[in-house]
Amino acid sequence: MSATPNEPAARAVRDIAVEFVQTGAGVPDGGKPGRVSEREGTLDRRLFLTCANPECKKGGFLLRAVVDRAVKDARTEVELDLPCAGYTGPLRSERGPGAGCANRLRGAIRITYAPAKPRA
Ligand SMILES: [Zn+2]
Repeated sequence: MSATPNEPAARAVRDIAVEFVQTGAGVPDGGKPGRVSEREGTLDRRLFLTCANPECKKGGFLLRAVVDRAVKDARTEVELDLPCAGYTGPLRSERGPGAGCANRLRGAIRITYAPAKPRA
């Protein structure tokens, strides 16, 4: 194992804000808009947003992978367009897993970084 002192440190994330509209079952026509942010304490620690579909099982929208990739690339804004990870219908079926939940989350994730520290 070797030290890598020259590797640039990842920039510290100061805030993650998500503006979104969820469409599908369980939301009004045209979708349900929302806004959460880490600073306001309204963003789940796992970066998880719940699905509104009452028929949905094990659903929701996990933003962690999207955010991690964006931070790695030092991006300040990424577009969001995610299908729900859940499914509808019976848990066990001879025909295989139930149909996927059709709810969708669209919007944008904005990432604010702490200013770079001046060199000592
Ligand atoms: Zn769902």
